[in-house]
Amino acid sequence: MSDIATHGGSADMLSKMIKRDEIDRYCKDGRDFIDDDAIRAEIADNAKPDKARVRDIIQKSLAIQTLSGPEVAALLAVDDPDLIAEMADAGWKVKHKVYDNRVVTFAPMYISSYCVNRCRYCGFSADNVREKRRCLTMDEIKTEAEAMIRGGHKRVMAVYGEHPMTGARFIADSLASIYSARVKMRRGECTVRRINVNAAPMSIDDLKIVHDAGIGTFQVFQETYDHKVYAAMHPADTVKGDYGWRVTCMHRAFDAGIDDVGLGVLFGLNPDWKFDVAAMCAHARELERFVNIGPHTFSVPRMHAASGSDVANAKSAFTDDDFFKAVLVLRLAVPYTGLIVTARESKELRDRCLRIGLTQMDAGTRIDIGGYSAANKEQKIDEQQFMLGDTRSLEEMIVDLAKQGVITSFCTAGYRCGRTGGCILDALKTGREGTFCKINAVLTYREWLDDFASPESIKACEPVIEAELAAIKEMYPKFFPTVMERYNRICAGERDLYF
Ligand code: SF4
Repeated sequence: MSDIATHGGSADMLSKMIKRDEIDRYCKDGRDFIDDDAIRAEIADNAKPDKARVRDIIQKSLAIQTLSGPEVAALLAVDDPDLIAEMADAGWKVKHKVYDNRVVTFAPMYISSYCVNRCRYCGFSADNVREKRRCLTMDEIKTEAEAMIRGGHKRVMAVYGEHPMTGARFIADSLASIYSARVKMRRGECTVRRINVNAAPMSIDDLKIVHDAGIGTFQVFQETYDHKVYAAMHPADTVKGDYGWRVTCMHRAFDAGIDDVGLGVLFGLNPDWKFDVAAMCAHARELERFVNIGPHTFSVPRMHAASGSDVANAKSAFTDDDFFKAVLVLRLAVPYTGLIVTARESKELRDRCLRIGLTQMDAGTRIDIGGYSAANKEQKIDEQQFMLGDTRSLEEMIVDLAKQGVITSFCTAGYRCGRTGGCILDALKTGREGTFCKINAVLTYREWLDDFASPESIKACEPVIEAELAAIKEMYPKFFPTVMERYNRICAGERDLYF
């Protein structure tokens, strides 16, 4: 193990990893596009919106239009329970208009716990000597992918710490290992169909390498957009200590040819959570301005207990109600964007968010390195980045969703049909993608039930398929026979059919 593996970076390493000209080109007069003072002024100026204005803003969301900074600030200020209920109802409608009645599921694969950074809230911090570190080999990554496939997963989020060992070439090779995994299940061979990547910011050349490996969404979370809080949480002598390198990463991603990106905030880090909601929306609008393509997803991870971190283990003032409100405002602020609420949160809170329009949930989640293929299924704080709040299996979550009338989707068609970037966002804004979402959810649900579910789970989930097929027949009567032709082929054992 090199010194860098456990003791953080050096000035030489920072200058190698951070390309200053690839920050400056996206800044104006040396300043990045997040203007803290302007965002704070918007929040202060819109602290008392009247009901009529809030209702006008809700109408704009229902028309699937991105909200302006003052409009986001106005929604953040709403505390009238009746208006909150109207916003929640609108969130549900927006989600159904854009993504229909489905929740996409995925599972994260944590590939390495080595990191050169020393983020004060993270168990993987290079300062944390208690963490038992591990980086999977290519064979182990394939074995882990096989274990995930056996668990019913088809969409993987590959997660990497920031370290020279796990640079762009390593990421590309690891994605090839995951894609190479094949497992025979009841009705034939199953594979991972799409890998999204959550990684550190990279240079344009490195992002091209990752892009060419075949990825879905590329995620980099800013953690907090507040420059001062960011500086307090990320030591200046680390790579992540460079706010500008991180916040401009998605601009570089687009310039590298990646057209599907995900943003995120680590809630609980910044006491002023409303600032971070407003700033992430400002980031989305900046990407719309830059390439006319906003983020495909917002993620809303929250700080949870982590090994060796006083910050993460301190009691947070950020409550479940704050979390709910943050999700609600994000749902309305950028209506075409998918919303991911992960297994960090409890089942109860995820169910609340489901009713206001979350679109993606992980399940059967393991975040220890090699956790899916390990015999021991217990969470261990010294072997993972943080502790999970929802440890339901994938099957349990699917059945729970079915009982609420919601279909779980394993669809990866958008990525594989070229419906990404501007194309997917146009389709989402006009509701066209919702049609594909609805039909592909049924096809992939049928596959999953036939390949993985117990007889009891199949019984619980069949009414959802019947209801969705009936709705498709009513909405698209001319197209319905084509849908049924593919559905019947899947029932007969064919796999991976989609629209
Ligand atoms: S938050 Fe990410 S970058 Fe920071 S120490 Fe943890 S793994 Fe490394």
